Amino acid sequence: MKSVSFCFDDGFRASADSIARIFSNRGVAACFCVLAAPELAEDPFIRGARIADWAYWRETVAAGHEVAPHGYAHEHLGKISVEDAQASVQRTLDAFTRELPGFDPRQTLYHLAYLAAPAPIVQWIGEHTLGARMALGNAGRNDGAAWSRGKPVDCMTFGPPNAELRAHERLARFMGEEDGWLVLVLHGLDGEGWGTVASAALEQMLDEVLSAGVAVTTPNRFLLSLESI
Ligand SMILES: [Zn+2]
Repeated sequence: MKSVSFCFDDGFRASADSIARIFSNRGVAACFCVLAAPELAEDPFIRGARIADWAYWRETVAAGHEVAPHGYAHEHLGKISVEDAQASVQRTLDAFTRELPGFDPRQTLYHLAYLAAPAPIVQWIGEHTLGARMALGNAGRNDGAAWSRGKPVDCMTFGPPNAELRAHERLARFMGEEDGWLVLVLHGLDGEGWGTVASAALEQMLDEVLSAGVAVTTPNRFLLSLESI
């Protein structure tokens, strides 16, 4: 079955409220990709916004949404040594295990900041989690039948300007001409974060997907369902 996952990176607090409500109202789940230590991030979009805390993410998980690792402090893992990058991923997974009840590194995708990491890190992540989510050049389309545990997952994101227009176009092309599993990465809503989209545009995209009978699911649920086939 054709499926779409919507990931929301960086953990913007005001947006998370709207996103959770928009998805819950339609009986589906969003995936929030968040940082272990956002207060240490140097990214100006993260520094300039209110980022949700662990208590908030625990409630988000309890409400049926997915909360997954997006890094420690939003480092670019390609711009530090391989040893430091591996330590950063390990620290992130340790923090998630400590803070989120039921979190298991083996049952989560790792959503890379900047959608990139050196090959040895991608491989290491694949050995410790479901795999790395990154830009692989397939415009976010994945073939579930070709995936196995540890393999990276492709995704597509949309920066300024016109993030919502281009996200909508990508979705329309997937719905009209393609099959498989599409992984879209958005950030904040209504002016918050990098590549912001209007909540009305998100609602419209979601409604179009659902009325076409396409499944909306989270990455971990999608991948774990493949493993249980
Ligand atoms: Zn990010």
